[in-house]
Amino acid sequence: MSFELPYNSNRLNVYEGGGLQSSNTIFFGGPILTIDDECPEVEAIAVSDGRIIALGDRQSVFQYHTVRTRLVDLQGCTLMPGFIDPHVHLAWSAFTNYRWINVAPPVVGNRDELKSVVRAAAQRKRESEWVIACGYDPSSHSPDQSSLNASELDAISTQHPIFVLEQSWDVAYVNHKALELAGITRSHLPFSISNYVTDTNGNLTGEIRGATAFAALAKRFPIITFEQKLQDCKDTLRSWTKKGCTTIYDAALGSLWGQEEIRLVLEMASDPSTPMRFRAALIPTDDLPYTAGLKPMQGNDRLCFTGIKFWSDGIGPGVVGAFDQPFMSGIENHRLNYRDDDLVDLMQSWHDAGWQLLVSASSPAAIEQTLRAYECLLAKTARPAHRHRIEHCTLIDESHLLKAKRLGVNISHLIGHVYWGNILREHFAANNHSIVPLASGLGCGVSVSLHSDSPATPVEPLRFLQTAVTRNIRKTGDVLSPAQCISIQQALKTVTINAAYQCFLEDKVGSLKVGKLADLVVLDRNPCTVDPKRIADINVIETYLEGLPLSSNA
Ligand SMILES: [Zn+2]
Repeated sequence: MSFELPYNSNRLNVYEGGGLQSSNTIFFGGPILTIDDECPEVEAIAVSDGRIIALGDRQSVFQYHTVRTRLVDLQGCTLMPGFIDPHVHLAWSAFTNYRWINVAPPVVGNRDELKSVVRAAAQRKRESEWVIACGYDPSSHSPDQSSLNASELDAISTQHPIFVLEQSWDVAYVNHKALELAGITRSHLPFSISNYVTDTNGNLTGEIRGATAFAALAKRFPIITFEQKLQDCKDTLRSWTKKGCTTIYDAALGSLWGQEEIRLVLEMASDPSTPMRFRAALIPTDDLPYTAGLKPMQGNDRLCFTGIKFWSDGIGPGVVGAFDQPFMSGIENHRLNYRDDDLVDLMQSWHDAGWQLLVSASSPAAIEQTLRAYECLLAKTARPAHRHRIEHCTLIDESHLLKAKRLGVNISHLIGHVYWGNILREHFAANNHSIVPLASGLGCGVSVSLHSDSPATPVEPLRFLQTAVTRNIRKTGDVLSPAQCISIQQALKTVTINAAYQCFLEDKVGSLKVGKLADLVVLDRNPCTVDPKRIADINVIETYLEGLPLSSNA
């Protein structure tokens, strides 16, 4: 799968001032959207040493022109603040981009698509190299079919060992080459017979149950070095920058590689050539933040450890939640991860210590529980500036939104639940009015942002904008709850200034104002004037972090 867009900064006319390396830049010659209600559009903007020093009409901004000023003529392109994705999983995205293959729904929609994705991956590999896929969800990929099996995977390749992991991480499916490499036969089973499914003749079907039973296979997987992980993460960030992103918030740092993930972001954030600003919420497992020596809000403009992540429903990145019916991950009716008291106990010390809390909650039951938990925490320890968040909020109704507003809780939606809404709709036909209700959220005065939850869905801020404005469902083009459509001006805020607020960055980025950091994106068309159904087709021409173009360190 490729989500790449053309990326060609040569389209911008750049006049270097004085032949010297100038730290001053003036942008002009196209619409400049500030995302600042007081002055929504300006003619020119001047940047010095990474910060905005002037903006307004061309004449007033050109007073800042010196012999060392670099002039960027936008030639009709649109300049605006760089996009912020306030909920991604960098390590998971890097890992599933470059090492494993992410076949999770909704992006890979059915069993045939899954097989063709795995086949394409095998064709890119050398003989005998592992092909490892994760995110297979029988309830969504193949609801009416029998389990995947070794013969079906043999049909993809007999030269490559193939390993397909279920979304639940509890069941895996392998081909005969994988069984052979791991030395697993009918007469030699490394674990109990009950871990290995057999057919009526007693032959292994390739289905292995129980994570511990994967060990014999996982030992054969290629080892990924720290340097490879770093490179994969950098490549992933670069691909996101090409979508116009300048800030990301990792919403479960440590959930894949533990403390090594902290080392990775520290390494990247201290490397000037990494074109991204980072915020992160750590997982609380084994007191990771403290064993890593981190305190709340520790960091600087580039990287800051702000939050702690919990899951009220779902079991981690890419898993969708405790919906009213088994959905995607096969999670049962109203299954929550915790009892109320246990969730509050888990969160209280982190709340008291001053961390921002993020709780994933997609189903009404989980959203209600999370709001109850926040109410308890705040009753015990009042913290006016907590900025706690609820993540995904797929099925949130107005009473929840009003309660969130009262408690000062922010909402970050997985907007892909609308774009990929055909799947949700099948499950919630009678209830689709409350799927990601953006207009209701904004109407209640809650801070609303949009996110990808990558690798659950791709980082595509322009797609988020189009979806928020049109609510078109990918497959059918139907409009999901037209009353919940929002204007492009409202939508732009959900991927800039609102997201910045939820990342404690609203005084640094997210809108264009004098004194703010010059994190910018140049688009070949203006999202405010283009046909709303074409917003996702807008091309990113250039991205700037603190005034420096990404293409300068390509
Ligand atoms: Zn997530």
